[in-house]
Amino acid sequence: MKKHNFSAGPCILPEEVLQKASEAILNFNDDDLSLLEISHRSKPFVDVMENARCLALELLGLENKGYKALFLHGGASTQFLMVAYNLLNKKAAYLNTGTWSSKAIKEAKLFGDSIEVASSKDKGFSYIPKGYEMPKGVDYFHCTSNNTIYGTQMKSFPKTSVSMICDMSSDIFSRQLDFSKFDLIYAGAQKNMGPAGTTLVVIKEDILGKVERQIPSMLNYQVHLEKESMFNTPPVFPVYVSMLTLEWLKKLGGIEFIEKVNNQKASLLYTEIDRNPLFKGYANKEDRSIMNATFNLVDNKLQATFDTMWKEAHINGLNGHRSVGGYRASMYNALPLYSVQALVDVMQELERKG
Ligand SMILES: *Cc1c(COP(=O)(O)O)cnc(C)c1O
Repeated sequence: MKKHNFSAGPCILPEEVLQKASEAILNFNDDDLSLLEISHRSKPFVDVMENARCLALELLGLENKGYKALFLHGGASTQFLMVAYNLLNKKAAYLNTGTWSSKAIKEAKLFGDSIEVASSKDKGFSYIPKGYEMPKGVDYFHCTSNNTIYGTQMKSFPKTSVSMICDMSSDIFSRQLDFSKFDLIYAGAQKNMGPAGTTLVVIKEDILGKVERQIPSMLNYQVHLEKESMFNTPPVFPVYVSMLTLEWLKKLGGIEFIEKVNNQKASLLYTEIDRNPLFKGYANKEDRSIMNATFNLVDNKLQATFDTMWKEAHINGLNGHRSVGGYRASMYNALPLYSVQALVDVMQELERKG
């Protein structure tokens, strides 16, 4: 039996996606060739890329609204610098909600003034700052919708006329939002969409072409858009698996459907964290992430026992990020509700044992 996989990333993928992906490695499209050994310019792969880009826009409700989708290399981390390279003229505003936002701010400083509008660093990034003011004359506002490491999530976004850029690596396709509020959204595939190796970038085309500097081709959104995400050899396998996952999600009923399941899973686990006297949650309640639940044992002496118990229950990936410790249960789209129940059962058993 497959383990209950709470890994934060790379993370769980739907069984049927893994099945189809493994078939494509051996014989793709009934052509008696592997997906890994055909030209990315061949029709079957061009169709995959096209389909993946269309599905991404469709699921986000961004078709025919001036947006294009790209599948690029280099992880979300490359987007930290690409965003600034392509869009930062003089100054940009950043909301600092954790490790990933901090890294984005650091890269932006190479290109101009990056103003930190607010930060939750004072309390170990356990909450989402609110009520900050948007500085005047900035090129864009950048935020991280879900803080994968500390387990917080933005429930609302600033009402502003400033162009909004969002790193949605760990909660894209997990909840309904008005995605047209954002001019650029990016997400590394390995959190909620596919394997590591590709990054989805959704761009409103009219925001480009406004900086003076020369941009190297590989880091230039316009180049990738003109070449329909095929400027160089794309990461064919990660794009294919992402496409399969997006097809899986569409068939289930899209974001509207999966959001309900995600809320059920999160509610089941947070209810137990709050009820069980042996555990305490890490993040501020109103800012809790429905994707990554962070929690600690009240008494660390129980750690060895608890660790043995969840491992025996066939659970994987529950350790907190190496920078914060404790526990983190990542409940991405493909994680079934029964896996969360299995974890809750272990937490209750620990309570009974004392
Ligand atoms: C994991 C993660 C990243 C980094 O992604 P890479 O693909 O490893 O570069 C960036 N932002 C968020 C929110 C993440 O969860």
